Formats: sequence, C-alpha cells, structure tokens
Amino acid sequence: MTAEPTTQERFTVEIMVDPARCTGHGRCYSLAPAVFDADDDGFCLPRGVTFVVAADREETARLGARSCPEGAITVVTAE
Ligand code: SF4
Repeated sequence: MTAEPTTQERFTVEIMVDPARCTGHGRCYSLAPAVFDADDDGFCLPRGVTFVVAADREETARLGARSCPEGAITVVTAE
C-alpha cells in the first residue's frame, strides 16, 4: 500500500522568467541561488520556459521574484 502524499509533497511551484523583461540585474540568483542560476552574460537561467521546483522552495522562489526590479519572474503554486 502506498501512503498518500502529504500536502507539502502534492504541491509544486511553477516559475517562469520572462526573457523580454530580464535585463540581468542578478538579484534573483544572488538572493535565491537554490532556485535561480545565471548565464555567462548575467541573465537569469532558466528563462523563457516554465520550470518546477518542490514546494519547500516556494519561499525562496518568491524571494527571488520579489527582488527582481523588472518584475520578470512569475511564481505559481500548482498541484
Ligand atoms: S533579477 Fe530579474 S532582471 Fe535580474 S537577472 Fe533576475 S530575472 Fe533577470
């Protein structure tokens, strides 16, 4: 018998970085390196695709999103 996933395990966090708005300030990956990375030019990676992290990284993802001066990062909690 498989145990039901906990609420924390059921939810994930979907993140999208708008490549048209990211201007490479670097605040997201400086403040939230567990979620965001940088390319060689200082722009956020990944960008232009929706990527998923575990729910226990939601606060870190939202910190990165709040820190972006361009409002380029969207964070959505998904089931
Ligand atoms: S903080 Fe915003 S503009 Fe700067 S690298 Fe991250 S997503 Fe791009």
